[in-house]
Amino acid sequence: MSRLVVVSNRVAVPGESRAGGLAVGLLAALKERGGLWFGWSGKVTREPSGSLYEQTDGDIRFVTMDLDRKDHDDYYNGFANRTLWPLLHFRLDLVDYDRGKREGYRRVNALFAEKLAPLLRDSDTVWIHDYHLIPLASMLRERGIGCKIGFFLHVPMPSADLVQALPEHLRLMSSLYAYDLVGFQTQRDVERFQAYVRLFGEGKVIGDGELQAPDGHRFRAGAFPIGIDTGLIAQQAREAVNKPAVRDLRKSLEPRQLAIGVDRLDYSKGLPERFHGFERYLQRHPKQKGLLTYLQIAPVSRGEVSEYKLLRNELEQIAGHINGNHAQPDWTPLRYVNKNFAHATLTGFYRMARLGLVTPLRDGMNLVAKEFVAAQDGSDPGVLVLSILAGAADEMKEALIVNPHDLDGVADAIATASGMPLSERVERWRALMDQLQENDIGAWRRRYLQALEAA
Ligand code: UDP
Repeated sequence: MSRLVVVSNRVAVPGESRAGGLAVGLLAALKERGGLWFGWSGKVTREPSGSLYEQTDGDIRFVTMDLDRKDHDDYYNGFANRTLWPLLHFRLDLVDYDRGKREGYRRVNALFAEKLAPLLRDSDTVWIHDYHLIPLASMLRERGIGCKIGFFLHVPMPSADLVQALPEHLRLMSSLYAYDLVGFQTQRDVERFQAYVRLFGEGKVIGDGELQAPDGHRFRAGAFPIGIDTGLIAQQAREAVNKPAVRDLRKSLEPRQLAIGVDRLDYSKGLPERFHGFERYLQRHPKQKGLLTYLQIAPVSRGEVSEYKLLRNELEQIAGHINGNHAQPDWTPLRYVNKNFAHATLTGFYRMARLGLVTPLRDGMNLVAKEFVAAQDGSDPGVLVLSILAGAADEMKEALIVNPHDLDGVADAIATASGMPLSERVERWRALMDQLQENDIGAWRRRYLQALEAA
């Protein structure tokens, strides 16, 4: 079996506390076959970018690289998070078109290539992750790297017309042609990519996941919906009941039901719309008033970026307005918490909830939707209310599917979930859980790597 090399913006080095499901899944793959994980160290330095650090853990070698302030601002805060992130989430109105940041993104990708190329062997399989590193394979190829290289886009692939609005879109998008396999979350993402290749990308769709670049060489694209570590989440949720934070939350709710939302504070998550949808629920279903408390956990993310600061202010206002209008002396309808919680604690919160509210305006997959279901008690499960605009909606048909822009629809789904009979909750949950067990994080990575190695 060839050595696996994983490349991503952030690396889950040993002892890293924020390592999530993806990190666990990738680490398992690296453990299985030995390998290398390469990426940014997470440090911003005064010295010029490029210092490398190395550590090993069993058969896994971790190599990370520092970035200086300018590279970090241009590449990460700039082009990745202020240009690509909004574009890939269908938000042209928020795209920053700054040329300097675009060049900075290429400069840092070239630095990744320069530092990584000498570490690679001809027989390696290289797996590059997400929108931070789109041009990396083409830059490795320029340095003579000929091994299998795959890419996986964790976020959505937008419509071709939106991509066309990005200056130099062809330079960016055609760098994907240097991969052997380009993976997406859903078949719709694959189709939008194929449409781009045909309409603006000067390439051809041959069929059955095969595409042709303008120079005639062929590569593959496919859908590989990412899963979670279903067994682990279920176990964590069972064990979480005795955690103090979980016990305290339960005590504070009684006898009311809990509706929970867990999202990074990001405009793609549809939080203002969700708050308004919850208020609409209180207005449209006055008989249910006081039955349910909505807890929104929203840790601050990318706090240095101005759009995120504005969003935070907006949410504080709406939350204050809702509670001001609807709270009772003994009941606060909306609890809004800007704090990050450990996975193990969150699973306990999920398990206690009658309702999971996952209503992004766009999401590549949305792992919270899957975690919520995996954490439920099968004998008394909660109901997932899920946006049709999340990749997860493709697989999770037994959730209550809503359009996050349709506030009446969200309001009615909350009411339906709150009153859903046990037998229907169990039936929906069983179907969702079977699916999550079958396509867990291990199955995802095996499917992807098999396809890459066969490409
Ligand atoms: N998460 C967490 N603590 C928090 C909030 C979120 O560990 O306080 C985790 C959550 O459990 C999930 C991930 O962060 O695994 C978010 O992934 P998702 O796909 O839902 O959204 P993203 O943030 O990647 O856009």
